[in-house]
Amino acid sequence: MKTNPETCGICEQEKTKGIHLYTLFVCSECEQEIIQTEPNDEKYNYYLKKLKNINRPTLFS
Ligand SMILES: [Zn+2]
Repeated sequence: MKTNPETCGICEQEKTKGIHLYTLFVCSECEQEIIQTEPNDEKYNYYLKKLKNINRPTLFS
């Protein structure tokens, strides 16, 4: 089992629990935040911007 902490692409803190979205690691807390954020929330745009840093241009098309 892999227990090395990874840097979350959203909060930029080292976490051991989370998911990988392509090349980006998102910790469980941020994952929950994103799920609970409404698309009209200012934070949603912030998350989207972060997620768009993933080298995967077709993701949001
Ligand atoms: Zn995070």
